[in-house]
Amino acid sequence: MWTASWHRWRGPFAAVCLLSIALAVWCFWRHKRYAQPGAWVWCGFVLLLGVPGLVGYLLHRRWPVREPCPACGRRAVVDRETCQHCGAVFPTPPLQGIEVFG
Ligand SMILES: [Zn+2]
Repeated sequence: MWTASWHRWRGPFAAVCLLSIALAVWCFWRHKRYAQPGAWVWCGFVLLLGVPGLVGYLLHRRWPVREPCPACGRRAVVDRETCQHCGAVFPTPPLQGIEVFG
């Protein structure tokens, strides 16, 4: 009985496993690209939960903007004071005269 059931469902089971692995790898790559801590935890989360896990991962926070670094030219997240790749300090934005706590 188990053998017959396994032969019937091994194809879809393998497809779901491969999809979860691909989503987990993409999640890990994206997490590293945004230089966020806990990449392995989120990778395991997406691996175990599949597509719902990936949706939860993408919706769990507001993702920062990535812009080219003026020093090295690589795209880096701009929610910090230094570049994630080269460590150069980002220049402060020019004052516009409308700053309240300047
Ligand atoms: Zn840089």
